[in-house]
Amino acid sequence: MGGVSQGQGTTVGGRKSGISKISTGNVPDEKAMEKKKKFNREQIAVVNNAVTMAEELVSNYYKLSAAQWLRQKYDVKTVADLSPRELVNGPFAQVVRYKGQRRDTALGSATYDFYKICLQDYAILAVLKKIDVLHIFPFTLYIITHELIHIVRFSKFLQNFNASSVEKMAEEIRVHQKTHTILESVQVPGLADTLIFFVNWRTSLDDLSNN
Ligand SMILES: [Zn+2]
Repeated sequence: MGGVSQGQGTTVGGRKSGISKISTGNVPDEKAMEKKKKFNREQIAVVNNAVTMAEELVSNYYKLSAAQWLRQKYDVKTVADLSPRELVNGPFAQVVRYKGQRRDTALGSATYDFYKICLQDYAILAVLKKIDVLHIFPFTLYIITHELIHIVRFSKFLQNFNASSVEKMAEEIRVHQKTHTILESVQVPGLADTLIFFVNWRTSLDDLSNN
């Protein structure tokens, strides 16, 4: 892909109360980020398994055929492969949109959207360390499922990538609710505790409408 322009991020998690942070593209200090922990090889393998399972669950839920599926339209990366601009302080992940250019079309070139799910290893590792009942597989399964739902909704034009911040917050709640719907019947040890951890993010509709 030929990444050209960088869009605003959408993020999952980050703060304990209410709605998760919506990234405004703040670029963290590069040196400070360097010191933060990255997934080790073993953890990367677990995260890869979570990606595979999340892809399957989301494509089944949205009844996407192999041709419709977004395989060529997104990538999941961890801190080891992120540029400073793709790092964000606080959230567990963010989706960054790139405009790609295809040169293989009869009409010369065509642009397409490419999404990068940027996992923020240190934020995930920090919460796993802090909260005993959270484990890396169910936790990253939740995060990746959540971000894939965002991407499906962007690509189906159910949600505008550049929505207002109020609309982004409403979308965030919707996506947490969908994530819960998709994962609630999945049999994975420890997943129930992850769903409880994120409960605040999907029950904030009232808070939002009162503000
Ligand atoms: Zn989100």
